This record gives sequence, C-alpha cells and structure tokens, in this order.
Amino acid sequence: MKIYDTELEVARRAVREACEICKAVRADMETEDTATKDDRSPVTVADLGGQAIMSHMLHEAFPDDALVAEEDTDMLREPENVELLERVVEQVQARNPALDTDAVLGSIARGGHAGGPTGRFWTMDPVDGTKGYIRGGQYAVALALIDNGEVVLGILGCPNLPARFQDEDCPAGLLFWAMAGAGANMEWLTDTGETPIVVSGVEDPAQAVFCQSYESAHTSHSRADRITDMLGVAVEPLRLDSQCKYGIVARGESGAYMRLPVSADYEENIWDHAAGWIVVTEAEGEVTDVDGKPLDFTQGRTLKSNRGVIATNGYLHEQVLGAVQHVLADS
Ligand code: AMP
Ligand code: MG
Repeated sequence: MKIYDTELEVARRAVREACEICKAVRADMETEDTATKDDRSPVTVADLGGQAIMSHMLHEAFPDDALVAEEDTDMLREPENVELLERVVEQVQARNPALDTDAVLGSIARGGHAGGPTGRFWTMDPVDGTKGYIRGGQYAVALALIDNGEVVLGILGCPNLPARFQDEDCPAGLLFWAMAGAGANMEWLTDTGETPIVVSGVEDPAQAVFCQSYESAHTSHSRADRITDMLGVAVEPLRLDSQCKYGIVARGESGAYMRLPVSADYEENIWDHAAGWIVVTEAEGEVTDVDGKPLDFTQGRTLKSNRGVIATNGYLHEQVLGAVQHVLADS
C-alpha cells in the first residue's frame, strides 16, 4: 500500500483555502460575482478563485503533477469580464498576496490536462454544486489524486454541511478525506482532529434513507420515485447538491445515492465523482454506475464508459441496482 501523507496534507490545506474563498464570496455576493458559461451553467468568483489557489498550492508542492479541473480562463480573458477577473484576483490575493493577475490566470489554465490511464494527476471541482452554492444550499470543494488510473486520495470540503444533515441547529462546516487502503474520515473545517467514518448497516431497502440531486436537470427524480416505490421505501429522499451526497452516504446518514441519467449522451466529469468515490469506498460502501460497472477514471476528463452513478452502503447495492435496472429498462 502506497502512502500519500504529504499529498494529503497539502491537499487538505488547499481545500481549506478554497473553502475560505467560497465563504468570503458568498457572504458578500454581488451580481457581478456570477457569470454564465457557454453551456449555460453558472460560474462564480469562488469557482475561479478556488481553482487558482488550489492549483497554485499543488503546483508548488508537486510541480510534476498534472491537473484536470473544471474551469478554464476563456471567459476571464474576454474584455467584458475584466471586472470578474479583478474580483477573482482580489479574492485570491486575500489568501495569498504574492499571486498577481498572470499567476492567477496561469494557475487556472493549468487545469486543462486530458487525464487518462497513466501518470499522476489531480482532479478538482472548486465549487461542486454551484447552483446550490448560489442558492445558499449545499456545495463542496472537491479534490482527488489519480495515480496510474486509480483514485488514491480524495478530499471534500463542505462548508454548509451540518454534523447531522436534517438538523439545522447543528454546527456546519465539515471536511471528508480518504486515502486508498487507509479508510475514510470526517473532521471540522476549523480543526484537524479526524473521526473515522463508516457507512450505515441498513440491509433492508424499505428502511433506508435515499439521497439524490436537488436539481432535476442532473438526475431523474421521477424514475427515482418509481425505484423507491418499488423497494417500499418509507421516507422521502434527501435532496442536496454536490458531492456532499457521497459524504452523507459515507458517514452512514443515507444508505443510497442514485444519480439516474436524464439524457443518453451526458458524460459525467471525473471531478464530480473522484473524491466522492474514494470517500464512500473507503468508508466500506460501494459505488458503480447504473449498469453495475465500476467507475472508470482512466477514460480522460469524463467517465465515458459509465452511465449515471449508484453509491450505497454495500448491503443495499444489489437490490437497489436491480430496481434501477428494472425501471430504466421499462422507460
Ligand atoms: P449535483 O449537485 O449532484 O446535482 O451535481 C452537480 C453537477 O452536475 C455539476 O457539477 C455538473 O457538472 C453536473 N451536471 C450538469 N449537467 C448534468 C446532467 N445533464 N446530468 C448529470 N449531471 C450534470
Ligand atoms: Mg461539479
């Protein structure tokens, strides 16, 4: 078993820095902090600033590692977005005054690596669940290390996630991390004392708490309802944005997370799943696609050879997968 302690240390610090940018931008959000990308999805100062700061920290510590990240600099280089660029640089400089505009742009641009089956690269989503972030819901700063096609390290910073999801009085702001072969852990964003986590022991799907995306454009809510009806599930599913869903499965709060394709041609991005995958797997859960195939992170920037995602505590996997396949075949 290979140990990635130095990588873990740097990556946890990087995620915490990006979480600070997210909180600062969110606390003081102005309309010019949000823009719309060509694919019509939103991007904020926090997405761009978070990618810049994490990319810079990783590059300083591990100059030979590549980076597969969600954001690029195309928008920021357009003259009409000069104010957006200024705000990004301002937020990054609040964390590291040494980074000028060129350094910020260069750090973001490093994220264009193609990924693939060989070599070592990081994959990051600086704000996973941007819609949740803007709405004041859940979001995650996601970072993972892929070594020769295997996800070996994953960190999820979840600034809005309470210790118990449905208990709003619970303090919020958590970080999940996992290393291959070494288990999964949860700790406060403000503290580094970790607690090992494991999935729930629920074996009867009727007793399980399911979770899914908040956005119906990202997963089929109607098919999920048919599946949970088929399984006799009693309680309403939890709906939340981002890889926080993997976190709540890993810590035993939810037994199953279903991500059911809404279109035949959508390819999931590796940065939307790598960190979550290892957190659940190391917490003794199971993750496959809707066909029961393992997620294949060797295919480039997307999970081209997979469709959708099913993450469970393991005990429920076969039964959930059976119901998923029944409903998908039927529709
Ligand atoms: P979630 O917060 O779990 O709903 O997932 C957010 C992620 O969904 C974003 O990071 C997008 O990359 C991704 N996404 C965008 N469009 C789709 C789609 N049609 N199907 C599945 N995921 C999508
Ligand atoms: Mg995302």
